[in-house]
Amino acid sequence: MTPALLAVAALLGLVLGSLANVVIVRVPQGGSLLRPASACPRCGASVRARDNVPVVSWLALRGRCRDCGERISARYPLVELASAGLFVAVAARFGLAWALPAYWLFAWTLLCLTAIDLEHYRIPNRLTYPLTPALGALLVAAALLAGEPGVAVRAVLGGVAAAGLLLGLALISPRGMGLGDVKLAAFLGLGLGYLGWAHVALGLFAAFVLGGVLAIVLLALGLRDRQGQIPFGPWLAAGALVSVLAGQPIIAAYLGVMGLR
Ligand SMILES: [Zn+2]
Repeated sequence: MTPALLAVAALLGLVLGSLANVVIVRVPQGGSLLRPASACPRCGASVRARDNVPVVSWLALRGRCRDCGERISARYPLVELASAGLFVAVAARFGLAWALPAYWLFAWTLLCLTAIDLEHYRIPNRLTYPLTPALGALLVAAALLAGEPGVAVRAVLGGVAAAGLLLGLALISPRGMGLGDVKLAAFLGLGLGYLGWAHVALGLFAAFVLGGVLAIVLLALGLRDRQGQIPFGPWLAAGALVSVLAGQPIIAAYLGVMGLR
């Protein structure tokens, strides 16, 4: 893993972070990703190229429209920074491996879906339907190029198993979980299954721990009642990223404590 690879990852992450912002705003509205060009929602002035540089432009404009002074949400630079951070973390984790593009797509998709689920309480099919087969194709190609066809099979089975588990939970408790979560589980099961069954188990377990702890804290503080919706998608995404980025040391430590290694 070289500094050059990490620099490329940071730049790619910033640029695709800008794309993520477009996806996060327009996919829930059902609009086109290509047109119209980005414009200020208040005065309608289109965003100039020099004002469209990730993070830098938002800071230079101090978070306001150049034409009318309307506030521009801090979510835009935050999503771009998060994207850059994820791309660097994934590059540091995998190095120059065949699977690197697949896990860049994995992290980028989870970032988009998390932002959309937090705001709209849904996981759009418009993202999961094309991106799940795209991730599967990248992972199968990576496994075959690495000469490990068994890994490709395990990735697909990981997607099926994770989706099956969440489908079972959605049938038992339809209020807590939606079909969007089931489709998201298929997506992350692919990425976790490629790494191994322990990563699938850790990713799902971490999601329930993270989501459950937060739900208990919010209930205890009286911030949410039992009917209050807490989207589960962001926890699935967080658990999956923990498993991908830190799964190896966590699983090794667990096996060590259990005396299995
Ligand atoms: Zn404006």
